[in-house]
Amino acid sequence: MGMKISFVIPVYNEEKGFMKFYEDLLLPELKKIKYDYELILVNDGSKDKSLEIIQDVAEKDKHVKVLCFSRNFGKEVALTAGIREASGDAVMTMDADGQQPPKLIHEFIQKWEDGGEIVIGVRGKFEKHGFIAKTGSKLFYKILNGMGVKDTVPGSTDFRLIDRCVADEYNKLTEHGRITRGLMDWMGFKKVYIDYIYGNRLAGKPSYNFKKLFQLAIDSFVSLSTTPLVIFGWIGSFITLASLILGIFVLIEEFAMGDPMQLKWTGTTCLSIFITFLIGLVLTSQAITALYISHIHAEAQGRPLYIIDRKNSRNLDAGKTKKA
Ligand code: UDP
Ligand code: MG
Repeated sequence: MGMKISFVIPVYNEEKGFMKFYEDLLLPELKKIKYDYELILVNDGSKDKSLEIIQDVAEKDKHVKVLCFSRNFGKEVALTAGIREASGDAVMTMDADGQQPPKLIHEFIQKWEDGGEIVIGVRGKFEKHGFIAKTGSKLFYKILNGMGVKDTVPGSTDFRLIDRCVADEYNKLTEHGRITRGLMDWMGFKKVYIDYIYGNRLAGKPSYNFKKLFQLAIDSFVSLSTTPLVIFGWIGSFITLASLILGIFVLIEEFAMGDPMQLKWTGTTCLSIFITFLIGLVLTSQAITALYISHIHAEAQGRPLYIIDRKNSRNLDAGKTKKA
């Protein structure tokens, strides 16, 4: 039996550029592939005409499947759903806005044929991006690296191709606060990198604003590393130790030796120092604990990761979606 490649593309409010992306950029490349292929378009609760547009595409081309979410669940979840739906021997994910150039898919496939199990697109240059986006991204990888997460190469993106074996393992992961690429990087397997230039959007606006990106960064830190907890643990023990030493010093200097240094410690001074220290300690440790508890909470809720709107999904494999 011939091999098949699945392409997973999350679509969220892409009505302006999608047809241009599909017809001008993607389709010509798909036609050149020597394998069979399927295209899984995940409609992530678009509020514009995106759904109608991709349903239309699926109507005309049986290679195309539409997986329709009941609301917006975010790109990370959309990718996860698409990968679960995919049946190919390799699964490739890419954005629907043309920023990740489809003409490179042959290079990804080549690297996969050469034995790469996770072929990762690394964003070398930004064509047109704000200062905040650039510095933010750099800072993110710096912090992640500082926290001991060494599996992630700076600039790694979701423009990637994974082998069936990786997809099968990825599908077994159940955590909710997920960063697709972070999880994949963590999973191991044979990684190969391809540099590419991050292009401009064909049309429309990016839906990742500062707030969402910040949330994504915090989620990455908490889900991939426990260093924040450790750091505050250290600060906490330092404060406790320092106040203990200070307390003993005051006791001895003032009360045992009769204040030879003329420091004139009063009981109120000592008490306020200790209380301030303790309050600081409690607050910081509480803040960090809360962060972790919020994640435990999300996991414990055990809600389904996404809910599929079956009426609007197209050409799905019934047996497979039932499990999801
Ligand atoms: N996207 C999605 N759900 C969202 C936000 C974005 O499925 O909640 C899709 C979007 O349609 C696009 C890709 O994810 O195909 C990347 O989104 P965007 O271009 O906004 O992000 P950026 O280019 O800034 O990474
Ligand atoms: Mg984009």
